[in-house]
Amino acid sequence: MQIFFYILFFIFFQIAFSMELIKVKENIFMVKGISSLPSKENRGFISNAYAVKTKEGWVVIDSLSTPELAKEFISLLKKEYNKPIKYLVITHYHLDHYFGASEFKKEKAIILAHKNLNNLYEEGYLDTYLENIKKIFGDIFKNVRLVKPNITVKDRYSFSLGDKKFIVLSMTPAHTNTDIVVYLPEEKVLFAGDLVYKNRIPFVGDTFSNSKNWLKVLSQMKNMDINIILAGHNEPLDKSAIYFTYRYISFLREEILKMKDEDIEYDKIKEKLQNTEWSRYPMFKVFHNKNIYKIYNDLDFEF
Ligand SMILES: [Zn+2]
Repeated sequence: MQIFFYILFFIFFQIAFSMELIKVKENIFMVKGISSLPSKENRGFISNAYAVKTKEGWVVIDSLSTPELAKEFISLLKKEYNKPIKYLVITHYHLDHYFGASEFKKEKAIILAHKNLNNLYEEGYLDTYLENIKKIFGDIFKNVRLVKPNITVKDRYSFSLGDKKFIVLSMTPAHTNTDIVVYLPEEKVLFAGDLVYKNRIPFVGDTFSNSKNWLKVLSQMKNMDINIILAGHNEPLDKSAIYFTYRYISFLREEILKMKDEDIEYDKIKEKLQNTEWSRYPMFKVFHNKNIYKIYNDLDFEF
């Protein structure tokens, strides 16, 4: 009997955390991770990655969390369409978007990232980040090798592959200090990394995040001609997701600022922000207090 349950659980985990290539629309594919922190069960498969098919090969957006996951993703792509992976664009330095990049280097893909990501790499900041991640999450990340981007973007960079044009835009500092997005002008598709969320709490707690500028970036995005937003942690979205993200960040900023002006202490501010409309969304428990802490501290340096 026990064996039976064991097998049932095993099948459950296999299905729940397996990787499947999903067609978003003509020539655009995704793999979809779950909403969680990395664990042994989910193998770090906690974010989405995307691939655009062109006559010359694939352009991939984000590398997933580990070389193991990246390898699986690459083999799904090759099975779908057996052409080389020509580019990997890394939307920002976080583990679930960047730590699988070494597999793409093996494929001889050109790796593209923000100039600041390259600086973090050069300064050794990313080595320290990786070491800390290994300490927290252990074996999942044991095979991660950090790679240096081949092309760095400061403001804007565009390239063509096959019959497709790709525009890479810097939109940072916001979620981190390394955020870039990819825009396909013909399809009006925006690959937004972790800058846009819907019905999920955004993470504003990164050391380099900038909530004030994040709102500016979202306003800029609102003015773009976009049909579909493909983000790091959601199903495909429409432009209403920009508004959701904007509303959460501006809610926190305004509430915290107001209470600071009334000389309310940090612990009290935190307490007052627990039971709000936002507490029902996924990742609230993991991110919300970190977001309060970061914004609370940043506000002192803004004016
Ligand atoms: Zn992120």
